Amino acid sequence: MAHVQAELASASAPEAHARGDCSSGQLLLQYEAILENASIGIAFTRDQRFEHVNPRFEEMVGWPHGALTGQHGSVVWRSQEEYGAIGRRVGPLLARGQSADFEHEIARRDGGTFIARIRAKAVDPRQPVHGGTIWIVEDITEHRRTVEALRRAHDELEKRVRERTEALARANSRLRDEIAVRETAERRIRHLAHHDVLTGLPNRRLLHKRLDLALTAARGGRCCVAVIFIDLDRFKTINDSLGHTVGDALLKAVATRLTEVLRPGDTVSRVGGDEFVLILGSTSGPDDAAAVSQRLLEHLSRPYEIGGYSLRVTPSLGISVFPGDGEDPPTLLSRADAAMYHAKAEGRQCFRFFTEEVQRASTLRLQLENELHGAIARGELLLHYQPRFDLVDGTLSAVEALVRWQHPRRGMVSPAEFIPLAEETGLIQPIGDWVLREACRQQRRWRDLGFGPWPMAVNLSARQFGSRDLTESIRAIVAEAGIEPDALEIEITESALMHDTGQTLETLRSLAALGIRISIDDFGTGYSSLAYLKRFPVHLLKIDRSFVRDIPSDADDATIVRAIAGLARSLGLRVVAEGVENREQERFLQGIGCDEGQGFLFAPPMPASVFERRFACQASPRQTVPVAD
Ligand code: C2E
Ligand code: MG
Ligand code: MG
Repeated sequence: MAHVQAELASASAPEAHARGDCSSGQLLLQYEAILENASIGIAFTRDQRFEHVNPRFEEMVGWPHGALTGQHGSVVWRSQEEYGAIGRRVGPLLARGQSADFEHEIARRDGGTFIARIRAKAVDPRQPVHGGTIWIVEDITEHRRTVEALRRAHDELEKRVRERTEALARANSRLRDEIAVRETAERRIRHLAHHDVLTGLPNRRLLHKRLDLALTAARGGRCCVAVIFIDLDRFKTINDSLGHTVGDALLKAVATRLTEVLRPGDTVSRVGGDEFVLILGSTSGPDDAAAVSQRLLEHLSRPYEIGGYSLRVTPSLGISVFPGDGEDPPTLLSRADAAMYHAKAEGRQCFRFFTEEVQRASTLRLQLENELHGAIARGELLLHYQPRFDLVDGTLSAVEALVRWQHPRRGMVSPAEFIPLAEETGLIQPIGDWVLREACRQQRRWRDLGFGPWPMAVNLSARQFGSRDLTESIRAIVAEAGIEPDALEIEITESALMHDTGQTLETLRSLAALGIRISIDDFGTGYSSLAYLKRFPVHLLKIDRSFVRDIPSDADDATIVRAIAGLARSLGLRVVAEGVENREQERFLQGIGCDEGQGFLFAPPMPASVFERRFACQASPRQTVPVAD
């Protein structure tokens, strides 16, 4: 500690003492008293040794009274190295006459330590070691502990605040995420409530709102609003034959094309399976609506390339115009709908405006629908029978039962008119049952009369075919009539066959297992492949009369009919041509190996009594002149 220790100036008091100065003696006593009673530790060192320490210092370092005197300065430090390091730090300051202020741990005699705040100052800076150094030492352990505890408490608090802040931030961000998710969900729900899921177009609800707005705007601006109701022709066939995935893709493609024709301010919405409604917001009137409809017809009728198929689907359009055709959304929509029905009735792929005539037709339709409900009970339904002939030997090969509605005022109503109505209303079920029962009863009667043995063909609609207990109900009807199951042939259309193939296959199998023959009606109008038909227990194909009509002159139709006949033969199915009306057709069909023919050339559908008279003796039926109904 030699280089460090500014030695305690033993100078002042002893010098004064030496001077024998009375006031010095006084002063000395005073100094002694101060030292003895000071509450801080004070030590004088010289030449690195303690020369004098006050009681408080002794108390702090735990040395007995007077024991430190003469001890080396390092005894109150924890190690020689530490003593040296302190000396190197403090020495230069003392030599410059400055005080050294620092805090450090001081060693107690018992091995313990305490933290001290230390101030050292040389009595004579010129000779800091020899001249002596005064050390003022304050035990700040408690203070330090308090500060440390405070710091720890502060740190702990900060840590907690930080953790809490982070937790809050996390909770906040979670909350924000939740809010975002909920907002998205709400937006989606709002969107779903107003839009069609498949196409994303506005739905009926939003359509009504938009139409309301358009009408309000039109009233103010004195302009017109047109409502165009669009229905796709034969969409059901595509959907049933090619499946819902293709059907859905087609609907989406149609929706896209519709929006392409749209002008700003117009709305296009999907209101049903294949039904769309367009609102022309502000239009100059019917001419403008007609121009847009024409564009829609052309644009929508172009082929769609979907799932490897080139599909053609045409629309039928009905138009109503505000203010002439109605003042409110429900009226305008129902009138556009009625006009669309009219367009369908007039051959499809066209547009029609709502007119008095449309109104009459739609009222009639509604009436017809109401009247159809009681038709069976009132005994207004009856069956006509049309024979089929073997094209090779000319014999009568089967009879088809075709339902008629003898309407008290309107006369004979064609099934083409009321069967779709019956399908829509669900009446097809009782009507279908009645037809089956009546046809089987007639078959029984003919068997009893010795007619036949030709099978009786009965048409079944897709709706009937979807019913699970169909097989059981047919079995019961056949049993009730007392005929053999193979005396009955079921005709189902190609599109009905393609519909819901799982259930269809099951029904067909169970019917075939009963021994009932199955034929496919209107073949060629669907999209089924012949190879696909192999899966079904089918006995016979009836080529749709639209293909037969123009043979042999129409080369395309001739090719189709020839191909169907050839492929059906290779699958082991019999082929019947529907709608044979002339000898050329008959010859062509015979030439390509078509098995049977049905049509006005041979005989139209006729009442049972006429049929009996005409075919009682079935020697050469084809020579028989067709009898009018
Ligand atoms: P379909 O089963 O294809 O019946 C043949 C239709 O073609 C009959 O019309 C028949 O009168 C008509 N037809 C027969 N030969 C010729 C011909 O040489 N030329 C022309 N142009 N037509 C001919 P109909 O009786 O009006 O029946 C129409 C459709 O109504 C039937 O077509 C069938 O799909 C349906 N239908 C008839 N009766 C029933 C029934 O009892 N139940 C069900 N579900 N549908 C029925
Ligand atoms: Mg038929
Ligand atoms: Mg047919």
